[in-house]
Amino acid sequence: MTALDAVRLRAEELIAEHLGTGTWTFGFDHAKTRAGQCDFARRRITVSRHLAARFSDDDVEQVLLHEVAHALAGPRAGHGAGWKRTASALGYTGSRLHDGPIASELAPWIGVCPAGHEHFRYRTPTRQLACARCSRRFDSRNVIAWRRRTAADAPTTVSAPTA
Ligand SMILES: [Zn+2]
Ligand SMILES: [Zn+2]
Repeated sequence: MTALDAVRLRAEELIAEHLGTGTWTFGFDHAKTRAGQCDFARRRITVSRHLAARFSDDDVEQVLLHEVAHALAGPRAGHGAGWKRTASALGYTGSRLHDGPIASELAPWIGVCPAGHEHFRYRTPTRQLACARCSRRFDSRNVIAWRRRTAADAPTTVSAPTA
């Protein structure tokens, strides 16, 4: 079973458990900057194929719970108190809510240029990269130093997708 199959299985399990069989469907999308989405019109929860393959099981679980909570709380709840109650009742522990892209939160590689700009990569950086914020052209003075994300970098949360 691939990682994506496992995500799909778990999603369908959660949907059946909390929303009822045959109510909502699950699928993957191609988003790169958010993990999940809850489409109320289509009654469909989707998770980024791109990110799901790179998430830990715990992160996937959190993303799914986040979206199932949206489905339960309804479109008007947004990320307000009603949604939060529902989400935490399901076991969602995300304590920070990000409206922006979440990709950087979970990218396993973190890079910092000499000026302190942060960069994120999903794949192991294989060649020298220079900071594009410091200079648009490659400049070896701005080479980014990479390290792998550790538990200390992402304390307790998986950040919330925007939708
Ligand atoms: Zn820089
Ligand atoms: Zn959300």
